[in-house]
Parts: sequence; C-alpha cells; structure tokens
Amino acid sequence: MNYKPSAERYQQMTYRRCGKSGLKLPALSLGLWHNFGNTTNFENSQNIVFTAFDNGITHFDLANNYGPPPGSAEKSFGKILHHDLGGYRDELIISTKAGYGMWDGPYGDWGSKKYLVSSLNQSLRRMKLDYVDIFYHHRPDPDTPLEETMAALDLIVRQGKALYVGISNYGPERAAEAFKILKEMGTPCLIHQPKYSMFVRTPEEGLLDVIGKNKVGCIPFSPLAQGLLTDKYLKGIPKDSRVAKSGVFLNESHITPEIIEKIKELNLIAQKRGQKLAHMALSWLLKDTRVTSVLIGASKPEQVLDSIECLENLYFSPEELQSIEKVLLS
Ligand code: NDP
Repeated sequence: MNYKPSAERYQQMTYRRCGKSGLKLPALSLGLWHNFGNTTNFENSQNIVFTAFDNGITHFDLANNYGPPPGSAEKSFGKILHHDLGGYRDELIISTKAGYGMWDGPYGDWGSKKYLVSSLNQSLRRMKLDYVDIFYHHRPDPDTPLEETMAALDLIVRQGKALYVGISNYGPERAAEAFKILKEMGTPCLIHQPKYSMFVRTPEEGLLDVIGKNKVGCIPFSPLAQGLLTDKYLKGIPKDSRVAKSGVFLNESHITPEIIEKIKELNLIAQKRGQKLAHMALSWLLKDTRVTSVLIGASKPEQVLDSIECLENLYFSPEELQSIEKVLLS
C-alpha cells in the first residue's frame, strides 16, 4: 500500500496540553487493545490507523500484552509504522506499557525493575523503534516497593528508551505517592490512564483531584464502556460487535435490561443535544479540563470518523448534566 497522509490532517483536531508538560495530545487518541492482533484483518487495522492519522489523531496507545496473542498488536503497529508511516515518526506519539503477565517465570509480570526494563526492550524490538514517547506502568504492584517501580521508569527515560512516563490503574493514594517519587527523581509523571466513562465513575472518588492538584495529564480508557455507550446494543447484539466477536472483556452478561434502559434514556438526551450517544459519552469526559485526551478503540475506520464528531459539542448545560446524572444514578 502506498499511503499518503491527508494534507488537512491538522485542521479539525484540537490538541490539549498534558498536565503542565510541554506535550500536547489530540483530544482523541487511538488505542490498539482490540482489532490489531493476529486474529484480525491487517488491512482493516492499517485503515483504522490511517483514518486516525488523516484526522489529526497523532497518539497511538499500545501495551506489551495487546493482541491476541500478546505482543502481536505491537508487531502489527510496527509493520504499519515502518511500511507506511516511517517518514512521520516525529509527528507521532507512541505509547506502550508493562504491568500484566507477559512471559513465564518470576520476571514477566507486575512491577519489578527487571520486568519493566526487559519488557520495554521487547516492545521496542517488536515495533522496531529506538524509543517510545510514553511508557506506562500498567497496574500497581502490591509487592514491589513503589520506589523500585518508579526508579525503573526514571531509568528508562535516562536511557532514552522513553521520552515520558505514566501510570495506569493506580488509585488516588498510590498515584499521589508515585507522582511525588517521580518528581523527586527528576522524571515527572506525564500522565495517568484510568478507566473512566459515564458508566465507570471511580476516578471522581479522589483520583481526578490528585491528578489536577499535581498537574498531571489524564487519559481515560474505555470511554465508551467498550461500546456499551453507543446505540449499537439497543436492538440486540450485532454480529460484528465486541460482545459477539470477542466476548472476553465484554459479553452478553453485561447487556442487562437495566443497562439497556439507561442506554435508551442517555440516547434520548444525546439526541436532544443533536449528538449520537457515542459522541455525548466522549464529550462528557472532555468537558473536564483535567482530562487531556480520551482513549478510544475502533473496530472499523468509520468509527474513528464518527467518534471525532464529538468535538463539535463539548458544552453541557447544567440541566443536561442533571438529567444525565439522574439516569446514571437511577
Ligand atoms: P472504547 O470504550 O472506546 O470501546 C471501543 C469499542 O467501541 C470499539 O472497538 C467498537 O467496538 C465500539 N465503538 C467505537 N467507536 C464507536 C462508535 N463511534 N460507534 C459505535 N461503536 C463504537 O474503548 P476500548 O475499551 O477499546 O479501550 C480503548 C483503549 O484504551 C484500548 O485500545 C487501550 O489502548 C486502552 N485500554 C487501557 C487499559 C489499561 O489498563 N490501561 C485497559 C483497557 C483499554 P465493536 O467491536 O463493538 O465495533
């Protein structure tokens, strides 16, 4: 394929400063958790990346274990990058992570310096890169001293293997400790990646305050609750949906009558705003200025284009917010 990025790629997207760093991220970033492994159509994966980049999505989020099998999303992305986007490396922000089980034995999981450094070396080899832009510790490790995990992040930056570091899935207290340790080491935490959507409000219980206070960036993952916060499940389970195709992280048991009722009511509020539910769910996160970027997934290029439309209306009236709260808390 001879891909040439759109000359208009920077016209529509907005870029938001990541905490108090020098880095700006697109309001929407693309995650490669699903639809980039060996079991998916490579051409479709390529087109998802091209559509994102053509529309100003400069940030691509990976992890060592994305696939299936683990590692294959990084390999696919590396292939796309070198075959089609090689000349644009300096226009891209590429993130990866380590923290979940990746290889056998005591050094392939959690948060030791041994695991994080080895894992990033492997990720760089899979993507054929000299460095990533952001390297995350993927989840807190209850057994490794936080100082060791943060020292690994600091070391990786000093080695030039990552430009910035972040943490993911950390609760407010541990995140505050991590921010403090990293700051003292001279490698400030760039960003926190929590699970956050209209259906998962946990970051509002302290984490967003800690992030705001420390002026760290924030990139919520699964902002559409893996597709639930769209109109796609209102008439049953589409054959090409995540529930039908994957069923591992999102399955039929999540599509309860109560959830469908909420989705219906939210869909009506979105329509009154002139938006689709997917748009409203994304704008609802972006209305908070502590949120730097929302990390979407997509199974087709059209979904990337559709989700970007959320940027047309980020404003919520107090009445709209109230009616959304009423549905979410019912
Ligand atoms: P979303 O909540 O955005 O769900 C994405 C899915 O929703 C798509 O694959 C598609 O599913 C459906 N969808 C997307 N856009 C639309 C649309 N406009 N209209 C209708 N349906 C749509 O995010 P993900 O759960 O995929 O997570 C996003 C990223 O977050 C991941 O790729 C990863 O990078 C990151 N992540 C990080 C984690 C962590 O621990 N740090 C954990 C999980 C994710 P369908 O197949 O049904 O079409």
